[in-house]
Amino acid sequence: MTQQKIDPNTFMSQLKERTPGEDAFHQAVSEVIPDLVPVVNDTPEFRDAAILERLVEPDRTITFRVEWRDDHNVPHVNRGHRVQFNAAIGPYKGGLRFEPSVNTSILKFLGFEQTFKNALTGLPMGGGKGGADFDPTGRSEAEIMRFCQSFMVELHRHIGPDVDIPAGDINVGPQEIGWMFGAYRRITNQFEGVLTGKGLSFGGSQLRTEATGYGVVQFLCHMLAEQGDRIDGKTIAISGAGNVATFAAELAIETGGTVVTLSDSKGVIHDKAGLTQDKIDWVRDRKSRAGASLEAYAETFDATWHEGKAPWDIPCDVALPCATQNELGRAGAKSLIDNGCKAIVEGANMPTTADAKQAIHEAGILYAPGKAANAGGVAVSGLEINQNRQRRHQSRAELAEALKAIMQDIHDTCAEAGQGKAGIDYARGAHIAGFRKVAQAMYAAGVG
Ligand code: NDP
Repeated sequence: MTQQKIDPNTFMSQLKERTPGEDAFHQAVSEVIPDLVPVVNDTPEFRDAAILERLVEPDRTITFRVEWRDDHNVPHVNRGHRVQFNAAIGPYKGGLRFEPSVNTSILKFLGFEQTFKNALTGLPMGGGKGGADFDPTGRSEAEIMRFCQSFMVELHRHIGPDVDIPAGDINVGPQEIGWMFGAYRRITNQFEGVLTGKGLSFGGSQLRTEATGYGVVQFLCHMLAEQGDRIDGKTIAISGAGNVATFAAELAIETGGTVVTLSDSKGVIHDKAGLTQDKIDWVRDRKSRAGASLEAYAETFDATWHEGKAPWDIPCDVALPCATQNELGRAGAKSLIDNGCKAIVEGANMPTTADAKQAIHEAGILYAPGKAANAGGVAVSGLEINQNRQRRHQSRAELAEALKAIMQDIHDTCAEAGQGKAGIDYARGAHIAGFRKVAQAMYAAGVG
């Protein structure tokens, strides 16, 4: 029996009723629903198999207690999670985030996005995300290590090289991955590729650190090329000063752009002359110190510091939001548009609010969603999984070629699926292309 056609508004209100208070998750789903409903309504087998209804329900959400002792022997309790969202096309794959704001809603939004992103890479990876409401700020290395070990005491039951392969995310870098990998090995007595983002001496991949930021700029270059344009001579505003932002800045400069901003949670630096590799190295060194802000950049180099501000009021041709979710609101988008910005490419996950997106769409500016543009990191993670399975290391040159090919392919896939009368809608293209792949696999696997 063919199911009734789906109405997007009814679908969203039912989802909100079933998942009260999960605002970030609702936002992530509401971004894709308008693009997916027409596809589902035109595909009776997807409707019959309730693909959309099943797609918004994670396979499972695991929540657990993480207990650890600080340096004064005082016990603490945090809440850990792993959201295993969808494994239709491969084992769950997605990062771990340690931040006080981590909760089920944020991890469901990230796991949902990850499902589309991983499908777009062309690699066999399902979507997942995890983390804890642990704040590493001000904690000693020993405290963070004990936290990571305790986190793995529970997480190890739920992951495995053919089940779920977590990676890093905010506040979870190679060091934390190393501690978690060490704990996993001691608990299970298995040396296997169960985490990605590992150190090179124990199964990590070349280029993983750079891959997300580099991929963002490669995606931007393909978008510009599609319009007969180039990055050379473009003024680029980047937010964030972490992994994604600094590597995006690095490649943007190398390919001829002028990067005039970086930012952190305290403010933004405006460097009219443009960042250089030396300045980026300075930023990395500065930000490696817990709690350090970018403010001192302005005194060290000839730049200005704007306390409490984001980069969006600063005139630019291209904006790359690379810090965090919902960092680019409607006012920021209006400023970018008024100042003649031509392209916005998301390095962070869901950095643009719904109303900002609406303004960008109406202005007809090129826009690429994070689920397509920041997929370079998880793509190289996928290649790390392959290297671990084959017990070999690929060279940096080989991986650089592979990353380039994947980013080109993601661009072309989104451009083709997003082609419309008004030009290319990359967000629609990413939603439809990612969805089709996952939906076909879910359909093939049957219901129940
Ligand atoms: P990092 O922790 O390395 O850097 C995050 C940066 O964002 C820091 O400079 C931080 O500043 C800044 N920041 C955080 N909150 C705010 C805020 N409210 N306003 C302004 N700046 C802020 O993270 P990543 O670079 O790894 O990740 C950034 C984003 O990219 C996240 O959304 C992440 O999920 C996404 N992403 C990351 C991937 C990766 O490979 N790393 C892959 C795909 C997506 P401060 O130092 O002051 O805290």
